[in-house]
Amino acid sequence: MGYKVAFQSLGCAKNLVNTEQMMALCREAGHTVTGEVEGADVAVLNTCGFIESAKSEAIDAILELGALKQAGKLKKLLVAGCLSQRYPDEIRADLPEVDGLLGTGSYTDVVSAVEELMAGERPEHFGEIAQAYDDGERWVTTPPWTAYLKIAEGCSNGCAFCIIPKLRGRYRSRSMAALLAEAKGLADSGVKELIVIAQDITRYGLDLKDGSTLAGLLTELCKLDFHWIRLHYLYPEAVTDELIGVIAREKKIVHYLDIPIQHANDGILKAMRRRSTKAEIEALFAKLRAAMPDVVIRTSLICGLPGEGEAEFEELCEFLRAQKLQRAGVFQFSPEEGTLAAAMDNQVDPDIAERRVELVVDLQSRIMDEYNEQRLGTCMEVLCEGFDAEAGCYAGRTYADSVDIDGRVLFTAAGLVPAGEFVWVRITGVSDGDLTGEIEDGGKEERE
Ligand code: SF4
Repeated sequence: MGYKVAFQSLGCAKNLVNTEQMMALCREAGHTVTGEVEGADVAVLNTCGFIESAKSEAIDAILELGALKQAGKLKKLLVAGCLSQRYPDEIRADLPEVDGLLGTGSYTDVVSAVEELMAGERPEHFGEIAQAYDDGERWVTTPPWTAYLKIAEGCSNGCAFCIIPKLRGRYRSRSMAALLAEAKGLADSGVKELIVIAQDITRYGLDLKDGSTLAGLLTELCKLDFHWIRLHYLYPEAVTDELIGVIAREKKIVHYLDIPIQHANDGILKAMRRRSTKAEIEALFAKLRAAMPDVVIRTSLICGLPGEGEAEFEELCEFLRAQKLQRAGVFQFSPEEGTLAAAMDNQVDPDIAERRVELVVDLQSRIMDEYNEQRLGTCMEVLCEGFDAEAGCYAGRTYADSVDIDGRVLFTAAGLVPAGEFVWVRITGVSDGDLTGEIEDGGKEERE
């Protein structure tokens, strides 16, 4: 008996890949998979739960789905992912809307959970979170020209503020063979932009002890029919010269590197249990810029870690003014129970931490505007992502813009530009973090 199963995915791209795997498993089992919750038999909500804001978003989504159940527009609600893994007791006690739970070690139990729900049971599956990564099929939900490739699960870095290792287990790389087979499938299906992700991609292969490395994996991926290969979540200390060499040499690997540093004051970095000093981070960025003058660096920053005083914060701001990192995600420290940092002395007043986030966001948006100004008049390759009716023109991204987190290029063209096509655009304007431009006929040999 096939059921109608709707999926909603919260949190990061790594969680999205798990959702895509659950969708494929349900389809293989003969159930009807849909994005439409109303009228579904079961809604599967794959949650995030690593910081306060993510937890609230998940709870809001559960209450919304609960209201649909109340209104008779949904039969059952299955909550999967990090919130389930972290708070099964609280969900059982406080969220009666939830009919079943799947932990982060049990995505592959989704079919039995759905069928148990429809049989009137209240299933809970909490498998071992450190088990080998499942190389299962995926129902790719990103646009047909872009797809994520998740190369490992879990994390063993043990940053003091982070609960992820407790939710996702120790670091487990996928085999090179499984990754290349999946990547070939994506390339054959028309994917042009491959986005390589994990909690930390730089550690890829070390746990396999078979000589696999990220540099080796990328060299093989570049032999496949992708146009762009984009890298997210590079741990600074593990960016080797060999890796920099491959990124600089291989044309398909875009010079856009997401390298979370979290802070720039040595005392705070030490308290965070990060393994890089400010000087080492500066040296790495200088090396990257020497190897790739057009490199765009994205990072993640935390303001308000315990012990962060005005001097430490000012040092971070000074570092950012000097480094001009073109992209940054800025987070307020969230004292997550079960982490070392939550138990630290010298907790920072949340209002002060919030104020610091605002200051860094301002600082970074000025840097981003400056970078966008520098692109005026240049001709850039753009991945067209379709016609934006609201903007009245085409929209796309350059190598410097990743999916969902960076700006866009809004451009005009005389003729029809198919979505998924790469075109050259003369940049003529900047507005609100986006660029504007006109298509350049005939293209341009080399990247500007
Ligand atoms: S690298 Fe640090 S912040 Fe990132 S997932 Fe691992 S422990 Fe968490």
